[in-house]
Amino acid sequence: MKIEEVLECLQQWVEENHSHTMLGETAKYIPALAEQDKNQLGICIMDFDGDTYKAGDTEVTFTLQSISKIISFIALCHFKGLDFVLDKVDVEPTGESFNSIIPFEIHRPGKPFNPLINAGAITVSSMLPGDTVDEKYERFIAFVEGMIGHRLHLDEDVYQSEWKTAHRNRALAYYLKESNLLDLDVEEALDIYIRQCSICIGLEDLAKIGLVIAHDGYDPITERQIFSNDVARIAKVLMVTCGMYNSSGKFAAHVGIPAKSGVSGGIIAAVPPKWHSDEKAFRKGCGIAVFGPAIDANGNSTAGTMLLRQISTEWDFSIF
Ligand code: GLU
Repeated sequence: MKIEEVLECLQQWVEENHSHTMLGETAKYIPALAEQDKNQLGICIMDFDGDTYKAGDTEVTFTLQSISKIISFIALCHFKGLDFVLDKVDVEPTGESFNSIIPFEIHRPGKPFNPLINAGAITVSSMLPGDTVDEKYERFIAFVEGMIGHRLHLDEDVYQSEWKTAHRNRALAYYLKESNLLDLDVEEALDIYIRQCSICIGLEDLAKIGLVIAHDGYDPITERQIFSNDVARIAKVLMVTCGMYNSSGKFAAHVGIPAKSGVSGGIIAAVPPKWHSDEKAFRKGCGIAVFGPAIDANGNSTAGTMLLRQISTEWDFSIF
């Protein structure tokens, strides 16, 4: 497909799916996120050559929120090895909400079900390399910056807002501590986790990370292997089985792309290469980032999900 055709399609599909923003609300439990403009919808696709295709509200920035969980899982596996991480956190979906304490209780005294629920994510963040919270956070953000090639910053308002209202996460962290699953102090573990959630990102950067995941940890633009094939494989499994909260099954059925969403309204998606479909766009795979802060009851961007569904259907992106 020609560049103009791709852009025309994206433009049209963003317009067609825009009304779905009406079906969701911004996340209310984090006051700073509640203030986001729920009418926004933007997308960026990055292809194998690093060219980007954008439509809608393309210059938005937003906080990573739960999208950071898949990145911290990858980072920790990269730094400490897959076996070390899988010993501490499982790879099973829960069927419960992302911040539920229930599955963790049932699984007791084992380990959190997966790194994409909050209990698992807090555990993962706490194990990042470094002796202090600052060091751990620095290692994490440097890992992300290494993938996108420039510095990122923390959204201080979101961080403060989340820190002050993190009652559920604090309870989860105490629970982990009581179960001997947390080496750090509760407040320290929570601090790293909330910092990683509050990192500000744009669509192009997120699409780049999606591209690297799609290519099994290889960055086709800089021609560097950033993390191993094995880590990428498990990350994609987690994205498919747990990445879209309790809609992961439906998302797999109707969209079929490894993806991870966050309550700020962002979604990262990794479209692996599909060599046999040369009629379609992006057969060498791509990374996709979507932002639409109106989210549904499960935590997924309403319009973003529908937009991805249309793109995947039209361009045959499903991996299934
Ligand atoms: N920081 C958010 C929380 O822990 C992230 C949730 C999400 O994006 O799913 O509640």
